[in-house]
Amino acid sequence: MSEEESYEFVKNTLKEEGIQPYEPSELETIHSIEQCINCGLCINHCPVVSAVGVDRFAGPRSIAVEFSRTPPEFWCTGDHVYLCTGCGTCREVCPNNVDIPEIVNIIRARIFTQRPDLVPDALHAQNAIIHEHNLAFEPWEDIEDKNASRDMRLERLNLPFYKERIKKDAKVLFYPGCQAEERAQEVREAGKIILEYFDVDYTLLEELSCCGMPSRLIGDHEQAEILAKLLKEKIDSLGVQAVVTTCAGCTSNLTSVVNSHGWQLPTYHMLEYLVEEIGLDRIKDAVRQQKQPEEIVVTVHDPCHLIRHTSRQVMRYALDILEIMDGVRVDEESAHDSCCGGGGLVARHSPDVAKRVVDENVRAISGTEGKRVVTPCPLCTAQIEDNLFRNGIDIDVEDLSVFIARRLAEKED
Ligand code: SF4
Ligand code: SF4
Repeated sequence: MSEEESYEFVKNTLKEEGIQPYEPSELETIHSIEQCINCGLCINHCPVVSAVGVDRFAGPRSIAVEFSRTPPEFWCTGDHVYLCTGCGTCREVCPNNVDIPEIVNIIRARIFTQRPDLVPDALHAQNAIIHEHNLAFEPWEDIEDKNASRDMRLERLNLPFYKERIKKDAKVLFYPGCQAEERAQEVREAGKIILEYFDVDYTLLEELSCCGMPSRLIGDHEQAEILAKLLKEKIDSLGVQAVVTTCAGCTSNLTSVVNSHGWQLPTYHMLEYLVEEIGLDRIKDAVRQQKQPEEIVVTVHDPCHLIRHTSRQVMRYALDILEIMDGVRVDEESAHDSCCGGGGLVARHSPDVAKRVVDENVRAISGTEGKRVVTPCPLCTAQIEDNLFRNGIDIDVEDLSVFIARRLAEKED
C-alpha cells in the first residue's frame, strides 16, 4: 500500500468515528507544537493579547495547546482562533519555531469543514461573496461609476491614466489584488504608471480573480485551491513569465501557492521588482526632482505579510528607494513593524478588536516626526488611514506605490 493509499484508508476508517486525521502536508506544522517549551515569549509579543488582554484572546500558546488535543476539545478554540491577525510575530520570536499562524489556519479549516456553526457569520458572508464573484469584495454594480471614482482619485493625486493593457506573451503579469481592483483603485493605477515608466512589457488580467488568501483565512481551503487553479489557468493562457503585485497579502500568498504547487513563476512585490529587476540607478534617475522640493518626513509602516511572511529584505528595498528621493527623509527611528490589525479578517467580524490593535499603531505614529505614513500595502493603508482619521490625527497615509508614482520625473524622449 502506498503512503497515499494508507492515508486514505486511515481517513475512511476514522471518518466513522467522526475523527479527521491530519493531512500529510499539515504534519510538519503539527509536529512543531511538540517543540514548545512553554516559555511564554509568544504571548508577550502578540499584538492582539497586548491590545485586548488574555481574557478576550487567550493567545498563541493557548491555541497550540488546544490544537494538540482531540477534536471535542479543540472546538473550544473557536471563540478566539478567529481573533488572530496572522501577523506572524509569535513565530518570529519563538525560540523553537512553533508555527502558530499556520496552526491557526489549520484549526480554521477544521472548524469550517466540521463545525461551520462556529465560523463567525461575517466570514460566512465574506465567503459567499468570494464564491459568487471570485473576488474578496462585491464588485461595483456599474462600471461607469467605478471608472468615475478611479478618475476622481487620479485627478486628486495628479496622476495620469494609462489605458488597460491586456496582451499575450508579455514578460510580466501585473496583479493588483482585490483591494486595489475594487476599492483602492489609485494603487492599481500607480502600479501601471510605474511599469509604463520603466517600459516593462506587462499585461493585466482580462478579469481579475482573487489569489485565494481570504478563503484560506476563512478555512475554505477547497475554494482557495479552486481560485489558485483558476488564476494559474489565466496566467498560462497569457503566457507571462513572472507576476508583480502591489499588495503585501497577495505577495505572500502567491509566493506560498507558487512554492507549494511547484510552479515556475517568480512572484515579486513591486518594491522587489523595482530594485531587483529595474535597479536603483534607474530609479534614482526617475525620482529626481526638477525643482528643489520641500522636505517631507515620512514614517514607514512594515506590513506583516512582507516582513514576516515574505522577507524583511522587501522593506529594506522600500527604505533604499525612499532614501534616494530628493526631499524625502525617513523617520527611521519610528519605522516600526507592529501589526495594523487589518490581517486575519479580524476586522470583518470583530472590528472592536482590530481597532484596539491599530490604536497601538496610531499612538506610535502620532508620536513621530513624520507627517505622512507610507506603506506598500493597500490593506494596511486603509486600516491605518481610517483609524488616524477617526482619532482626529492630522497625518496623511499613502500607499508606497502611489507615493513612488507621484514622484516620477517627466520622462525624456
Ligand atoms: S500570529 Fe500574531 S495575532 Fe496571531 S497569535 Fe501570533 S502574534 Fe498573535
Ligand atoms: S514562544 Fe514558542 S516555545 Fe515559547 S510558549 Fe510560545 S510557542 Fe511555546
